[in-house]
This record gives sequence, structure tokens and C-alpha cells, in this order.
Amino acid sequence: MNQEQFAHLLKARAFCLLALSPLIPLSYLIHFRRERMKLALGYLMTVMMLFSLFCLASFDSKQDLQAGYSAFPYLLISLFAIFPVPLSLSLQLAACIMVAMLGGNWLLLGQPLWSAATLDQFWLLALFALASAWVQCGQLNMLLQLYRESTTDELTGMMNRRLMMKQLEQARARFLYQQQPFALLLLDLDRFKRINDHYGHLAGDAVLKEVAACLAEQLEEGMVLGRYGGEEFVILLPKCSSGRQAMQFAEQLRLAVEARLIKSPTSDELLEVTVSIGVALMYSAESSESLLNRADERLYQAKVAGRNCVVGEPVAPDQSVA
Ligand code: GH3
Ligand code: MG
Ligand code: MG
Repeated sequence: MNQEQFAHLLKARAFCLLALSPLIPLSYLIHFRRERMKLALGYLMTVMMLFSLFCLASFDSKQDLQAGYSAFPYLLISLFAIFPVPLSLSLQLAACIMVAMLGGNWLLLGQPLWSAATLDQFWLLALFALASAWVQCGQLNMLLQLYRESTTDELTGMMNRRLMMKQLEQARARFLYQQQPFALLLLDLDRFKRINDHYGHLAGDAVLKEVAACLAEQLEEGMVLGRYGGEEFVILLPKCSSGRQAMQFAEQLRLAVEARLIKSPTSDELLEVTVSIGVALMYSAESSESLLNRADERLYQAKVAGRNCVVGEPVAPDQSVA
């Protein structure tokens, strides 16, 4: 490498480092959002490809250095295997890298588009793209499985408390920024311990599953149901601004559970179960915990009032609560 080429390379490397530096702060802002990821990855690949093409054009094709830089596209395509991005996105980017590499070779190095060398490169790039897509599929599958396991309640198959709390935070954000009101229902099975004590835990589990299914059947579009813990469930009613509406729906749920007869797996008996429900409406900029607390207080009142009933908001001046 002569003095001039060395100076060229130094400048290109400095440019590359400078151009890549915004990716460090950007990576904190990505939060696995598809559009942002697409942008960041596209940017990374573009800078690297420009660098590679610049180096290819600067060196004589017989120099060893060129061989190193011509491996860049293969390296970039292999990188997709470790990025948790959608498969379609990595295939799109791989196609862009292929076009940039073959086009660069044609325009900068004068390599004919229809030649054995181009075909060789295309074949090798396609092989790398397929191999990394295959590895990526395995990774995405594993990530999905981990996500499902960490957000699903094992017994009932519905969302667990962690995901439920996230949904609650999202509903709260919609309330704060788009003025979309919503209601929260906290349900607790009545005297559930007795079922466990009399019929065993297996029967208790069957009751929990059946009640979960019964509640799910009653849900309307947009409503969110999750197991809050033990024998407690939470339901979010989106766009619900009236206490009366929330109370009516809670009453509908209470009646549905009351009417359900559940066959015990440990005996031939049909078990009856009831729920108490606390209803709270989001109507001020309060925290999710405070909203849950209010629903919990009403649930407690429902228990004190004899169970198998619904307790809602006390009547506020601008609220029409049943
Ligand atoms: P209350 O009407 O006051 O709510 O009475 P309760 O008996 O329903 O409430 P308590 O808090 O005394 O008992 C709840 C029981 O729920 C205790 C616990 O063993 C049982 N439980 C919690 N999770 C599960 C589960 O996943 N399966 C089974 N079988 N039982 C569970
Ligand atoms: Mg309880
Ligand atoms: Mg209970």
C-alpha cells in the first residue's frame, strides 16, 4: 500500500467510525420498535457497504487488502443471524446488500454483471443469506417462546400479571394523551379455599380454568382479561366512561359465573362458584397502582357485603354510576 492509499484508507476509516457513532445513543432509543430498528440497521449496512465499496475501488484488485474488504458483504449478511429483527426485514436488507455489492463491482471494478465471477458471488451471498435466515428463524422462535412463557399464565392460558400491568399502563397512557377513558374490574372467587379444602387442588385448578373460560366468553372486542394472581382476575374495559356501563358489564360477568356448573375432576359433583367484583373508573391522572387500589377497596366492600356482588364507584357529580 502506498502513502496515498494509506491516507485514503485512514480518512475512510475515520469517516466510518464517525458515521457509526450515532448508532450508540440510537440503540438506547430503539426499544425493539420495528421502524426504528429498520432505520438503524439500514443505516449501519449502508455505512459499512459504502466503506467496503470505497476500499474496493481504492485498491488494486491484486492486493490482499481488497480480498479482506470484499468479505464485508458476507460478514454483514451473516450478522442478521444475531439481530432479533423480523425475517422479512433481514431478507430485504440482504437483497439490498447483494445489489450494492454486485452493482459496486460492476461500476467501480468493471466486473461484468453477467460473468462467472458475478454468479459465484451471487451464489455465495444467497447461501450466506439463507444460512443466516435459518439461524435467525431459530432465534426468533426461541425469543417468541420465551416471550409467551413470560407473559402467559400457565394454568389458564390467559395473560399473566406482568403483561396485564403493561396493558394497564398502555390504557393509562391512552387516557392521559388521547383522553380515552377506561374502567378496571377486579374479580375474586368467593370462598375458593373451601373448594381446595373439600375437593382438592386439582378441582380448584379446574374451577380456575373454567371460570377463566367463562369470563373470556363474555368479553367484547378490545376488552383485556388477565389473571392477576391466585383466584383473582382483572378486566380492562376500553372506552368505558360511565360507571353505569362498567357496573352493568360486571353484573353480566357475575351472573355468567354464577350460572356455570363446573364438573369436579376428583368426583362426579358439579361445583358452583361465585365472584365478587370491584369496579374502578380512570377519571383523573392517577397512577395504575392507585386505580388498582380503588378497585381492591370496592372488592373488599363486596366481600363484606356478603360476596357474589358488584361494588362500583361512589356517585361523583359528573358520573352516572348505577
Ligand atoms: P374470599 O371469599 O374471602 O376471597 O375467600 P377465599 O377462600 O376465596 O380467599 P383466600 O385468600 O382465603 O384463599 C384463596 C385460595 O386460593 C388460597 C390458595 O390456596 C388458593 N389458590 C391460589 N392460587 C391457586 C391455584 O393456582 N390453584 C389452586 N387450586 N388454588 C389456588
Ligand atoms: Mg383473593
Ligand atoms: Mg377469594
